[in-house]
Amino acid sequence: MAVTRAKDGGPGFFTTRFEALLAWGRRFSIWPFTFATACCGIEVMGAFGTHYDIARFGAEVIRFSPRQADMLLVAGTINYKMAPVLQRIHDQMLEPKWVVAMGACASSGGFYNNYTVVQGIDKFLPVDIYIPGCPPIPEQIIDSIVLIQKMIDTGAPRARDRWPIKI
Ligand code: SF4
Repeated sequence: MAVTRAKDGGPGFFTTRFEALLAWGRRFSIWPFTFATACCGIEVMGAFGTHYDIARFGAEVIRFSPRQADMLLVAGTINYKMAPVLQRIHDQMLEPKWVVAMGACASSGGFYNNYTVVQGIDKFLPVDIYIPGCPPIPEQIIDSIVLIQKMIDTGAPRARDRWPIKI
């Protein structure tokens, strides 16, 4: 982006590419849809509280409709009965979209290694970012938003672009 100022102190102008302008807008309007099923959800509530001021990153507008969300934040244990519901929610989100697996349970099943629990949501969803921890702290959620912003800025491929299954 190039900025040009008028010599007389009047308004200047800038030039850019359309893609860069689009990315700039997208970067500061990552609206999250939180799918919280267990204790990690409490940390999500903390992260979206005033103390962490997530509005600094343009991500404070929590959506309760997947059709209005850009980022699917999965926080907690996902069992096999719940997986089709989560997949449906993901399908309903418009492109471009990003998936974040928060915590050990969403990332790998955690210590619930049994026949009812999906051993990581990447078994059926293209996960872009894994947040380690049990539970992760709010700063890590903020970190995932910053990482998505970097992906937007650099045009880095999303997990979805490499996803072997058409969903
Ligand atoms: S990762 Fe830990 S804190 Fe998060 S849902 Fe699983 S058991 Fe709870």
